[in-house]
Amino acid sequence: LIQLSIPLSYLGMVYREVKQALTNIQRMFALLDEPQEVRDAPDAPPLAVTGAELSFEHVDFHYDPARPILHDVDFRIPPGKTLAVVGTTGAGKSTLARLLYRFYDVSGGAIRIDGQDIRQVSQDSLRTAIGIVPQDTVLFNDTIYYNIAYGRPEATREEVIAAARSAHIHDFIVSLPQGYDATVGERGLKLSGGEKQRVAIARTLLKNPALLVFDEATSALDTRTEKIIQAELAEIARDRTTLVIAHRLSTIVDADEIVVLDQGRIVERGDHASLLAAHGRYAALWTMQQREARPAAPEPAPA
Ligand code: ATP
Repeated sequence: LIQLSIPLSYLGMVYREVKQALTNIQRMFALLDEPQEVRDAPDAPPLAVTGAELSFEHVDFHYDPARPILHDVDFRIPPGKTLAVVGTTGAGKSTLARLLYRFYDVSGGAIRIDGQDIRQVSQDSLRTAIGIVPQDTVLFNDTIYYNIAYGRPEATREEVIAAARSAHIHDFIVSLPQGYDATVGERGLKLSGGEKQRVAIARTLLKNPALLVFDEATSALDTRTEKIIQAELAEIARDRTTLVIAHRLSTIVDADEIVVLDQGRIVERGDHASLLAAHGRYAALWTMQQREARPAAPEPAPA
């Protein structure tokens, strides 16, 4: 009996670890709501990142052949620059991020990083090179330490704390009675939207990716938090090739290039000033959002 109990307890430990790993992977896919349908090419080499130039070359895409989503989307983000994509809801903005992370393959054209077609490199290496700060970060039911370290599990405690400091969440964490060991998530401490986003930023800083995708939260943060987070993002985007999926135009005025997507097509492009001067789609969106941002006049009572 004694002899048996040792391997059993060992198995129990392995089981727990495997289960934890599977739960994380499952949760990750559940969060991103994506099927895992692409496969590595046989003997796919790792992505070789040099400057991290990202290009979408004449990309067409459909989830369902009966309904095309993207048409001839073509842009290039030079190393270290920021491109923001704006457009109405359903225009296909988040789809660009899903294609880049290779949850799906393009239906036409290609996506390249430093000249390499992302279909030709291993998915592991591709996903290591890309950091995504998602719209709504869902935290694991685990310690806050685990949630940050997830960005790079082999990181040292010092590195985890340094990332938390850079994301301006360290002081908050140490003010908690259990500090970094505090449990967060659905069954633990509930964090505010801004705090969760900072955990996501810390996680991404720890991962230190060459390419950054920021899928901006649709849910409005208060103006002060939004300003702070914006400054933090500008900090992590510096010197990294960044794709911003923007919902609020106020956050992207400094982007190197802005692309306006409408029903899956690029209809305008330029920087903020030139797009405003063009008095087109972007200028109209801008005027609309400025109006919304102003204190609202009393709404007429619903009929
Ligand atoms: P929003 O600003 O509302 O987030 P978006 O511009 O990011 O919108 P996408 O999420 O890229 O839009 O979606 C583009 C279109 O693709 C939408 O019409 C959507 O219904 C459709 N779509 C998104 N995901 C899937 C999917 N998994 N299967 C089928 N259609 C999808």
